[in-house]
Amino acid sequence: MNDTPIDTASDFIRDIIAADLESGKHEAVVTRFPPEPNGYLHIGHAKSICLNFGVADEFGGQCHLRFDDTNPTKEETEYIESIQEDVRWLGFDWGEHLHFASDYFEQLYEWAQHLIREGKAYVDDQSAEEIRETRGTLTEGGTASPYRGRDAEESLDLFERMRKGEFPDGSRVLRAKIDMDSGNINLRDPILYRIVHAIHPRTGDAWCIYPTYDFAHGQSDAIEMITHSLCTLEFEGHRPLYEWFVENLPVPCKPRQIEFARLNLSHTVISKRKLLTLVNEGVVNGWDDPRMPTLSGLRRRGFPAQSVRDFAQRVGVAKRDSVVDYALLEHHVRSVLNLTSERRMGVVNPLKVVIENYPEGQSEDLEAVNNPEDESAGKRMVPFAREIYIEREDFMEDPPKKFFRLAPGREVRLRYAYFITCTDVVKDADGQVIELRCTYDPETRGGNAPDGRRVKGTIHWVSVQHAVTAEARLYGQLFMPDEDNEGELKLNPDSLTVLPAVKLEPSLGGLEPGTRVQFERRGYYCVDPDSTPDKPVFNRTVTLRDTWAKIQKAAQKRG
Ligand code: ATP
Ligand code: MG
Repeated sequence: MNDTPIDTASDFIRDIIAADLESGKHEAVVTRFPPEPNGYLHIGHAKSICLNFGVADEFGGQCHLRFDDTNPTKEETEYIESIQEDVRWLGFDWGEHLHFASDYFEQLYEWAQHLIREGKAYVDDQSAEEIRETRGTLTEGGTASPYRGRDAEESLDLFERMRKGEFPDGSRVLRAKIDMDSGNINLRDPILYRIVHAIHPRTGDAWCIYPTYDFAHGQSDAIEMITHSLCTLEFEGHRPLYEWFVENLPVPCKPRQIEFARLNLSHTVISKRKLLTLVNEGVVNGWDDPRMPTLSGLRRRGFPAQSVRDFAQRVGVAKRDSVVDYALLEHHVRSVLNLTSERRMGVVNPLKVVIENYPEGQSEDLEAVNNPEDESAGKRMVPFAREIYIEREDFMEDPPKKFFRLAPGREVRLRYAYFITCTDVVKDADGQVIELRCTYDPETRGGNAPDGRRVKGTIHWVSVQHAVTAEARLYGQLFMPDEDNEGELKLNPDSLTVLPAVKLEPSLGGLEPGTRVQFERRGYYCVDPDSTPDKPVFNRTVTLRDTWAKIQKAAQKRG
C-alpha cells in the first residue's frame, strides 16, 4: 500500500454497480449491512458498514440495517442495541430500514414448504453428526441420506410437527435436495432448518425451528429488494447455493452477491468469538475496553468516527486477503485529532519546581493558544504561580550533549510563560530528585526575551496550586507476536498502565466524558466515563509520534 491521498477512487464493486445503473438493470442501488447480534461490532465490521452505506450514499440509493437473528442461543438484545449505537456513531443512517431476519420467519417457513412440495427439500431424521459424516470431502462426493427419498406429504407433515414442537432438539432437520455429488460441498443437501427450543430475543417462544444462515440470508435480501448483496470472501462458496434458492423460490427479486476480502489488522484479533472470550475471561473490562478493536472500545479510547471512516476508505475493497498495519489506523486518528483537538497542558510524570524569585502567594493568568491548526478555536488563560510541575523527563542532572531541556544552570522556556533557570536540585535520602529550585526572568513574560536571547528548549508545566489531579490510562497493543509460535499472537501483559495522579491545567477538570484533547508534547487523550467530579479519568488515545509515517519513510528510503 502506498501513501496516496484519500479519494473516492472506484473499486470493482463500485464499477459493477455503476454499470448496472448505467445499463438500466437497476434504477437505484439497495444494499444492506447484515450483522448477527451475537457480539459487539469491531473495526472489521466498519469496513463493511462504510462500504455498504458508502455505496448507497454515493449512488443515491439506500442501505438497510438488517439483523441476521437466526441463532437464538447466541443472540442478545444488548447486542441489537449496541450495534445500532455503533452504526449511528460511525455516521450512518438506515432511515426506516431497520429489519430483522426474524420478521421473515413466516415467509421463510412457507418457502421451505414450497421446496418440499416441489420435491426440492426433505425432512432428514439423521443426527447432525451423521449428516456431517456423510457430507463427503473435497475430493469425494457425499452419501445420500436414507430419508432422501421420503415423499413430500410425509416431509410436509413432519416439518409441520417440527414447528409445533413435537420433537426434541437435534432429532430432525429439513434439508434441501440438490446434489450429493456436487463439487461444492455447500450444495450437498444443505440444512435449511434445525430444531432449537430456545427463547429468541424478538420472537420469544413463537418458534422452535430456526432457518440456517444460508436459507435465511439470500431470501431476506430478496424480500428487501436488495440489488447488491456485498459480503466477505468466506461466502464465495455459498454463492451457488444463494443463487439456487433465489432461482427455485418465488422471490420478488434476484439480488446479486459480490464478495470482498475481510479486513485483518495487525496486533489484534477481530472475530466476535475471540473478542467474546476476552470479555468472558476478564482479560479486558468489557466489550468497550479501550484496548478492544470494537467500535465501542475505539470510541471510548477517543478515536473519532471520521478517522475510522478515513481508514476504511484508505484500505479500500479488494478480492485478496491482507493484514493491515495497526499503525495505519493510528495515522488516521492522529490526522483527524491534529485538526480538531484543542491543546492543553498536562504533566503526566510530575516533578515539582519552585521558582524562588516569584512572589509567594501571587499568581497570574497567561494566554495560551487552543489549536494552532484552527484559529477559530481561540485562546484561553492558564494560571501561573511560584510552584509548578514539569515532566520528570524534561530534567536531567547530567545531560548528554543533545538534551536541550532543563538541567542545572540551564535556561529553558516554559510554554506561554517565562524563561526559567535551574539553580538547585533537591534530593531525598535515596538520591532521587524530588524538587528543583529555579529563578525566572520577569522580562520574558509570554515566552520571549526582549534582549533577543534564545533558549533551545520549551517545556510544558502546570501550576501546583491550580492543578487538577487525574488518573491517566495508557494503552499498548492487546496482543504481541508470539516468538515461540511463528505467525501467532499472544497477550501483551503490559497493555494497560494506570497513572493515578497526573497533574493537569484547571481547564481539564469537569469535562464531559468523550471530550478529546491533546496534552501538548504527550499525546491525544479522551475523558473516560469512569470520571468522577473529584477525579477525572483520561484515556490516552494515541501518542503524538506517527509510526506509520516512519514506516512510509523507511519504505521510501529502501526504494
Ligand atoms: P465475526 O467473524 O467477527 O463474528 P461475522 O462475519 O460472523 O464476523 P457478522 O455479524 O456476520 O459477523 O458480520 C456482518 C457483516 O460484516 C458481514 O457481511 C460480514 O461479511 C462483515 N464483516 C465481518 N467481519 C469483517 C471483516 N473483518 N472485514 C470486513 N467485513 C467484515
Ligand atoms: Mg457470521
